[in-house]
Amino acid sequence: MLNVKRGLKSWKRIVRDEVHNIKPYIPGKPIKEVKEELGLAEVYKLASNENPLGVSPRVKEVLTRETVNINRYPDGASRSLKRSLSDKLGVKEDMIAIGNGSDGLLKVIAEAFLDNNSQAVISYPSFVEYKFVSQLMGTQLIRVWMKNYHQNLEALARGVTSKTKLIFLTNPHNPAGTIFRKDELEQFLSQIPDDVIVVLDEAYHEFVQDESYPDGIEYVKQGYPVIVLRTFSKAYGLAGLRLGYAISAPDIIETLMKVRDPFNVNHLAEKAGQAALEDKDFLEATIRNNEQGKEYLYTELDKIGVGYVPTQANFVLIRTGVDSIKMFKELLKHGVIVRPGKPLGYPHHLRVSIGLPEENEAFIRGLKLTLE
Ligand SMILES: *Cc1c(COP(=O)(O)O)cnc(C)c1O
Repeated sequence: MLNVKRGLKSWKRIVRDEVHNIKPYIPGKPIKEVKEELGLAEVYKLASNENPLGVSPRVKEVLTRETVNINRYPDGASRSLKRSLSDKLGVKEDMIAIGNGSDGLLKVIAEAFLDNNSQAVISYPSFVEYKFVSQLMGTQLIRVWMKNYHQNLEALARGVTSKTKLIFLTNPHNPAGTIFRKDELEQFLSQIPDDVIVVLDEAYHEFVQDESYPDGIEYVKQGYPVIVLRTFSKAYGLAGLRLGYAISAPDIIETLMKVRDPFNVNHLAEKAGQAALEDKDFLEATIRNNEQGKEYLYTELDKIGVGYVPTQANFVLIRTGVDSIKMFKELLKHGVIVRPGKPLGYPHHLRVSIGLPEENEAFIRGLKLTLE
């Protein structure tokens, strides 16, 4: 008979220290579960920056057509998607890596470069995945405080030491929704040593309206040690399929390709991604809806006197000034799921995804009731 008690003790000893120190990610609750738990007929999810318009009809068509092929392994090189991206972005195919979401690529990047004798520089607060992948590799994090909801590029550059391997930047920033400008990025890049790689996460690239916004791919083309990350999860509405890509110099991409799983992108995701790129109308409708929703939220928040950070993404960081977890629970009772700011580093804020008009209205209604 196996002695369970003793068995437990001994296997715990062999877990890597890095893993011991990681707190498990707590995913948001699905709509169905919230409905059942609270006995609500209508629940609006504005928590994960998903596309409120759903999925492009072209994607649906392709998925129906391609399902019969999933007995086969996917094309491990994602050739056809790389070709489409290469045409669209004006970069060679050997400058593109495809991943299981940009989360998957962040892990590949960490595994390729980081170890327990190196440092990575991040903003605080910033997207949780940077901290996760760095901790997993035992890498020391140098954290630089945000400055008035903006990444402090000057301080981030000063955080670089001889041990620094990666710097994680997010443009637009999540959860603040703010951007840094071309001139700021150029000034920053000119200060970074050649043996440090800048990971430029542009998950919300498609939503940006500000003219001064830099296109990260331009800097890859100019030869800077930059890895640009983009995703199909946000503007293209494919969060559930898991698809992202990295653009960088061919030798950096080759290094990443060594580390990834041989079949890290599933067949349906690859085909869906290609179809999504072709549907320009859907992307335009997505951006139009986002702009209109943004204007509506600004107007209503101004009316009730609640502060917010003007956004370049598909979510708004709202400064309620009260405990975010309490606020989150109150809004849940009104059938609206938002993201409490506390785990994101803004304990008196809420991050609210911009939804369809009726979803935004439900949020404002709930907010008013909660603040009464
Ligand atoms: C949503 C998000 C991602 C994750 O994208 P996936 O492709 O779904 O893994 C990456 N970075 C930031 C900043 C995000 O907000």
